[in-house]
Amino acid sequence: MALINENYLKLPGSYLFAEIGRRVTEYKKANPEANIIRLGIGDVTKPLAPAIIKNLHGAVDEMGQAETFRGYGPEQGYEFLIQTIIEHDYLPRGIKLEVDEVFVSDGTKSDTGNFQEIFGIDNIVAITDPVYPVYLDSNVMAGRTGSLENGKFTKLVYMACNAENNFIPELPKEKVDIIYLCVPNNPTGTTLPKTELEKWVKYAQENKAIILFDAAYEAFIQEKDIPHSIYEIEGAKDVAIEFRSFSKTAGFTGTRCAYTVVPKTVMAYTTKGESHPLNSLWNRRQTTKFNGVPYIIQKAAEAVYSPEGQQQIKDTINYYMANAKIIREGLESIGLQVFGGINAPYIWLKTPNNMDSWEFFDKLLKEVNIVGTPGTGFGPSGAGYFRLTAFGTRENTEQAIERIKNNLKL
Ligand SMILES: *Cc1c(COP(=O)(O)O)cnc(C)c1O
Repeated sequence: MALINENYLKLPGSYLFAEIGRRVTEYKKANPEANIIRLGIGDVTKPLAPAIIKNLHGAVDEMGQAETFRGYGPEQGYEFLIQTIIEHDYLPRGIKLEVDEVFVSDGTKSDTGNFQEIFGIDNIVAITDPVYPVYLDSNVMAGRTGSLENGKFTKLVYMACNAENNFIPELPKEKVDIIYLCVPNNPTGTTLPKTELEKWVKYAQENKAIILFDAAYEAFIQEKDIPHSIYEIEGAKDVAIEFRSFSKTAGFTGTRCAYTVVPKTVMAYTTKGESHPLNSLWNRRQTTKFNGVPYIIQKAAEAVYSPEGQQQIKDTINYYMANAKIIREGLESIGLQVFGGINAPYIWLKTPNNMDSWEFFDKLLKEVNIVGTPGTGFGPSGAGYFRLTAFGTRENTEQAIERIKNNLKL
């Protein structure tokens, strides 16, 4: 008899987007003339930049010639891309990395989901709340949590981030071993200053814990004093893994390329207390289970770093961030309490009159025909909050905010 991994049964169904879809469909059926604007999408909408398309075409042609054709590539990524990543994303910030400390992959979703595999099952995991659901779900699947009770998994440490603590997670009172930080954060759009990140690095050093740092929105940071990499913090190269993605940075959500930095100095331990570098374990995991990113895609990613590529992706990011400003300022002008939207393409708002997240979803849909995302979809501390995204078109964003200003009954 084949037994299933019963940890999967602990997970509630992916109710959020299905339920949003159901409510929108029902509303459309009753109101076929409604012009619905979606500000709930967590996906980019602008096409790939011309510099990227040019490299992509060139690489496709190379694959059609015997002299330049390539089969299996290195599972860790081609050196041309890794060198370019190190030179552009790290060296200018004073961070030195070796080629075998950077692993190119098909996504930060896969990497943040898979990375927990190389840790023992008895580690205590801490996540900020609300957050990108992959960290939690992958640890539930692995059996590192208990069951779901009153909206929270037992054996897991939730670090609440809300308006009361200015979205700055507190160091856990209990001892934890693995800490997920998503900075800038999805869904709250908030960041952490250097002084806060320093506390986490110190905590990790003192407790022999590991920080898994998701910097998928690093390129959206606008303010000067916000760190772009955890390795800007002294000592982080001993305790932190960093995940970055071309998805939001350069419109690769459908093209697929990301990378993960695993410094050789980051150690975890056997139960006997012997230290072991995570770099070699992750390398072993990837070479066994992952075939590498296609050559043509890695060539496309390389173009992100060319002078033209840099300018073009910056223009797109500025476009999204101008949308974020329109949303943020528009909501503030009618007295709503809003967060984020300055260093990330997400605007997180406190629902008015203590409405619950779904009540506000229905209100926004019915009164102004706008679809957003209820905060509860990202964790229990998302209750009473709501996410809007800046990934739409300028026209739709402006129209949506006009409608909210003129027709939303507060
Ligand atoms: C969108 C997103 C990612 C991107 O994942 P990819 O698999 O690289 O597309 C990673 N982390 C967070 C928090 C995200 O919102």
